[in-house]
Amino acid sequence: MQNKELIDILNAEKTLSKEQWLQLICSFTDEDRQYAANLASAIAVERFGRKIFFRGIIEFTNICRNDCIYCGIRRSNNCVGRYRLTEEDILECCAEGYDLGYRTFVLQGGEDMWFTDDRMAHIVASIRKAYPDCAITLSIGERERASYQQFYDAGADRFLLRHETADEEHYGRLHPPELSWKHRMNCLRELKDIGYQVGCGMMIGSPYQKPEYLVEDMMFIHDFHPHMIGIGPFIPHGDTPFRDFPAGDTNLTLFILSLCRIMQPEVLLPSTTALGTVQGDGRKLGVLAGCNVIMPNLSPLSVRKKYMLYDHKVGTEDDARAGIRKLTEQMKDIGYEIEVGRGDYQND
Ligand code: SAH
Repeated sequence: MQNKELIDILNAEKTLSKEQWLQLICSFTDEDRQYAANLASAIAVERFGRKIFFRGIIEFTNICRNDCIYCGIRRSNNCVGRYRLTEEDILECCAEGYDLGYRTFVLQGGEDMWFTDDRMAHIVASIRKAYPDCAITLSIGERERASYQQFYDAGADRFLLRHETADEEHYGRLHPPELSWKHRMNCLRELKDIGYQVGCGMMIGSPYQKPEYLVEDMMFIHDFHPHMIGIGPFIPHGDTPFRDFPAGDTNLTLFILSLCRIMQPEVLLPSTTALGTVQGDGRKLGVLAGCNVIMPNLSPLSVRKKYMLYDHKVGTEDDARAGIRKLTEQMKDIGYEIEVGRGDYQND
């Protein structure tokens, strides 16, 4: 069967067999990719209009107890100047973000246990109180169910926890032995169960990734049916053991993003910073491939360069206002505008 036919089947049935996924991912041409992108962006425009949701991301700590092999802020990278923002700093970022029109704040960080459950819940509650009309998203890694529940009760609405890879063995090659694929997958289920809008996702082209693993990722995403999907290319960081691995391929990333949109029309799909880093116009291309979310940086300029998950990360030079202006321009270039408002997941 032709790849275009497979894309049509995905569009009609919202699912493919393992063999069909594998064929698509292994043999797609530029033309197939363009076909998928056109279909995916039409689906997104039909749902959301030519509008892109902006979420302000606050990278509140680069201190991490984990040693994920790909990640620039892994515990054993001694070259990183470590920082953590205070609750006051975080609230200041929110205030600036609110003025700029953001109605979603994403708190992302390493697994920094200085932020105990109580401290974290306190921060969430303070933001909730100051900005009752805003969504609060956490991206702080793995914790116990009771902790997730506590943050939810304090006012958090959404949680981003990429599964990184749906293949357990592959997971083991990207992470140190003390980290468990089963635990991470279980966290995702618990988060959903508690009532969060949940995002999973993976890197494209991470070391040792095979097309078969991407098939597993797509089948996992199909079954899990997340509210958000975070996908970007792997980018090597010079101070990690994966420094000599190549970056993930832009076209493969774009194709997978389109397939996600076609499979799950209502999903919130960010065009990621990593995509904008491997290619200057990557985030525009992401939108043209079916993405509908962009997450500009709201962290204080003074810490931006310290939150380097990978080399040459874009957006570390501009302050929040300049960053949003540039991204707004980029979106305008391709005929899209910025949507303020919480932009919650909506199913019908
Ligand atoms: N500590 C949190 C946040 C992790 S950073 C957590 O565990 O969820 C957010 C995402 O950045 C990660 O989930 C990972 O997919 C991505 N990331 C990390 N290192 C990267 C790299 N070198 N290239 C591309 N993406 C990377």
